[in-house]
Amino acid sequence: MINETMKELGNKRSVIREIFEFGNRRRAEIGAENVYDFSLGNPNVPAPEAVNRTMIELLQTKSDMYLHGYTSAQGAIDTREAVAADLNRRFGTAFHKDNFYMTCGAAASLKISLTALYTPRDEVIAFTPFFPEYRVFVETCGAKLVTAASDQDTFQIDFEVLKPLITEKTKAVIVNSPNNPSGVVYTAETVTKLSELLRAKEAEFGHAIYLIADEPYRELVYDGMDVPYLTKYYRNTIVCYSYSKSLSLPGERIGYILVPDEVTDAKDIYAAVCGAGRALGYVCAPSLAQHVIASCTGMVSDLNVYRLNRDLLIDNLTEFGFTCIHPDGAFYLFMKSPIADAGAFCEKAKDFDLLLVPADSFGTPGFVRIAYCVSTEMIRNSLPAFRKLAESFGL
Ligand code: PLP
Repeated sequence: MINETMKELGNKRSVIREIFEFGNRRRAEIGAENVYDFSLGNPNVPAPEAVNRTMIELLQTKSDMYLHGYTSAQGAIDTREAVAADLNRRFGTAFHKDNFYMTCGAAASLKISLTALYTPRDEVIAFTPFFPEYRVFVETCGAKLVTAASDQDTFQIDFEVLKPLITEKTKAVIVNSPNNPSGVVYTAETVTKLSELLRAKEAEFGHAIYLIADEPYRELVYDGMDVPYLTKYYRNTIVCYSYSKSLSLPGERIGYILVPDEVTDAKDIYAAVCGAGRALGYVCAPSLAQHVIASCTGMVSDLNVYRLNRDLLIDNLTEFGFTCIHPDGAFYLFMKSPIADAGAFCEKAKDFDLLLVPADSFGTPGFVRIAYCVSTEMIRNSLPAFRKLAESFGL
């Protein structure tokens, strides 16, 4: 006998992976330049030049022990000090190294945090559309994922929907802004209202409700958009951060968990984070990446390409008759499928070698995700295919 839940999880390929595999087959058949693959959120913009330079300098000047040896389980001291100093400078906070636990990216940050917080019968709320792995992370902790539909026009939080879902069993609420897949950024008004509601519910139920801020896209915003820093609005916020997107380093697997001092039972939660990291086998995030972060935290890859791509897509797709949600951040365009079945729409798109992701697994049937972290040239070349797709649906 083996763990059947894990077997099922391993055998069940994600929709995105399926589409990506289809793309590989088509690339081999007709050439990569003829396949317009918008399926994956893999940043195409290079890491800031300072990242590679720092890596080379480290390799040339530091000992093997420093570069490749274990750091302490929660991360190297100078890395955690640098991360705290950068956030304090940017957001006027007062974090210190012992608020941070370095991780293998946001996925590990989320899984460790949820494992640290979980007790039997807990419920965790996420807003649709949400990153599909939330369900995996929450349910494999034995907790229940409760989904709250967002406002279908703005994709901000719909408080009338949310309010009755917060119960005595609610342990945490996950927010992801800028959002994958909608590209929507929560306004200060939304964050203020959410904080007030959670405080009222904490008082009503007599226990803490933690806000888990999943923030891999925090710095990826356009047109001077402000992304409210949640710890300043709501005391019981735990931040799950990753450098995968801001520094274009998804393969280096580096991020952190931030448990501020103000959080209820902060010391116990930090200890539980260390314990969960240990139980899950996540101690000591990759050392070389940690040392790079000590110098490069706070830097951002060049966002100009993403902005150009976003504008090119949204202007043209709207002209072709599609309806899109205007993205203020991340690198995803959320588009309404012209037919109710977004899966069937994406199948049809394959006839034009356009690889789009139906948003059903994000909890939002009837929508499609277009990842525009691709070359601008590919977007330009794909526009006639999008036009034909629109025409095939009578738009
Ligand atoms: N959360 C969201 C919303 C994401 O989009 C992703 C990755 O795409 C992750 C978490 C996981 O990020 P990482 O690659 O840092 O584990």
